[in-house]
Amino acid sequence: MTSAYIALGSNLDNPASQLRRALRQLNCLHQCQIESLSGAYSSAAIGPGTQPDYLNAVVKLATALSAPQLLGATQTIENSQGRIRSQRWGPRTLDLDILLYGGEEIHTQSLQIPHPRMAERNFVLYPLAEIAGEKLILPCGGVLGSLLANCPLGDLVRTQVSLDIEHEPG
Ligand code: AMP
Repeated sequence: MTSAYIALGSNLDNPASQLRRALRQLNCLHQCQIESLSGAYSSAAIGPGTQPDYLNAVVKLATALSAPQLLGATQTIENSQGRIRSQRWGPRTLDLDILLYGGEEIHTQSLQIPHPRMAERNFVLYPLAEIAGEKLILPCGGVLGSLLANCPLGDLVRTQVSLDIEHEPG
C-alpha cells in the first residue's frame, strides 16, 4: 500500500456535503482506505468573478492503486458529483488534487506529483501539515515546514464543520 495525500475543495451546492460524499467515495474505492483527515478550512475563492468561499480539506489515503489509476478514480468521483469544467479556476462542486503519492515524483502530461501549485496554496499546505506534520519530507528532499514558512495563513480559517463520514448525515 502507498500513502497518498489528496486535497479536496468545493464552493458550490453545499460544500460540506460535497466533501463528505467525496470522502465516502474515496474510502469505498477498491483497496483504498482513509488513514487520516484534516479539519475543514474556509477561504475566499481565487479565480474569476465573485464566487462563494471554498471549503477545503486534505485526506491521507492508503491505496493499492497506481498513481494514474488513482487520478482516474478521483476524476470519476469529481464527475459523479456534477463537476463541470467550464472555466479555469471557476466555481466547482468538487475538486480533487493528488498532492503526494508515496515519495514519488511523477511528470507526465496528465499527472504531476507533487502537485505543481501546492507550494503556493495555503488552503492545501495548512490542512496537509495538520495531518502529516511540518517535518514531512517532500520528494524533492525539502520539508513541508519550509513551504509553510513561505505561505502566509492569510484569510484561511479552520472551521468547526465536521467532515466525519462515520457519524454525520449526507
Ligand atoms: P483541475 O481543473 O484542477 O481539476 O485539473 C485537472 C487536470 O490536472 C487534469 O487534466 C489532470 O490530468 C491534471 N493534473 C496534473 N497533475 C494532477 C494532480 N497531481 N492531481 C490532479 N490532477 C492533476
